[in-house]
Amino acid sequence: MSRDDFSSRLLAWYAAQARDLPWRRSRDPYAIWVAEVMLQQTQVQAVIPYYERFLARFPTVQALAAASPDDVLKAWEGLGYYARARNLHTAARRIVTEHGGQVPADPAALARLPGIGRYTAGAILSIAFNQDTPVLDGNVRRVLCRVFRVAEDPRQPAVERRLWELAAGLVPPGRTGDYNQALMELGATVCTPHAPRCPVCPVAELCEARRRGEQESLPVRAPRRALPHYNVTAGVIWHDGCVLLAQRRPGGLLGGLWEFPGGKQEPGETLEDCLRRELREELGIEVEVGPLLLTLAHAYTHFRITLHAFTCRHVSGQPQALGCAAWRWVAPDELASYAMAVTDRRIARRVAGTTYFVQTKQQA
Ligand code: SF4
Repeated sequence: MSRDDFSSRLLAWYAAQARDLPWRRSRDPYAIWVAEVMLQQTQVQAVIPYYERFLARFPTVQALAAASPDDVLKAWEGLGYYARARNLHTAARRIVTEHGGQVPADPAALARLPGIGRYTAGAILSIAFNQDTPVLDGNVRRVLCRVFRVAEDPRQPAVERRLWELAAGLVPPGRTGDYNQALMELGATVCTPHAPRCPVCPVAELCEARRRGEQESLPVRAPRRALPHYNVTAGVIWHDGCVLLAQRRPGGLLGGLWEFPGGKQEPGETLEDCLRRELREELGIEVEVGPLLLTLAHAYTHFRITLHAFTCRHVSGQPQALGCAAWRWVAPDELASYAMAVTDRRIARRVAGTTYFVQTKQQA
């Protein structure tokens, strides 16, 4: 197969079939960077409203750099993988201080910014600056494994290196931005993980997996390990008509987000004991644990949790930020303005319809 044959088929198909997506109407490196970061772990349809709101709220690198971390996390709320938002924000601040507010067109400078790996750098350089840099994301990996019949696990470092070399050898000089987008579009809409639509594929005649009837079995997938499971407690702690929120420490999972405080159950511990211990350790307070408000299940990338949220009454101790970044008593109608993970947001919505714990006790 010649490089030109592969790329010209893809480019012609893309010119005719490309979806009209908001970030494709822009050549602004900042807008393309935001879109690429959002798309890293999230489906296109879910990203579109977030992208539009984010760009309306922070239309330039300078606007993003000037925003508070809370405002950025709030704009990201619901997209998940919040390290992406924190890195984007930190990188915007560095672009303002170190690069005069211009997203750098230099691969080495881009690579030094937090959250910009080889894929994101390749996308920004090729799409915004029309440089001949390849990309390799999940979609491109799948297409290349099938077209070139790569029959080893593509997550092995040696296979990954080979795929990057393949990707680099295929880019058409001067057209790489469109070509990279075409390749990603093919993976997203035609060469899908299950039931690829080979009869309408523009590179079907060049595809080795299709020729052998192996398109459904490639790429090779390593068997999935069962995710560990944890029981986690959270306290909806009432005091004078407000509830207590704690802000998670920056960095790490959900860093910077606000939550109903609590933590992971230890072996041999009841859920109520767990919650009392966690609140003592995290905030230095004593509470009376009341009724279960709700239980919900959630899966993160590397583990699953069942979250048990209890209504509690604050008994003693001025809260202190012992195991969190900050704390605040918040009226229920102000909860919507705090950035939270999806599990805490569900608790917050329930809190809005909850009877104040002390009143409940007095009525009982
Ligand atoms: S022919 Fe089928 S398997 Fe091959 S690239 Fe096209 S859609 Fe994917």
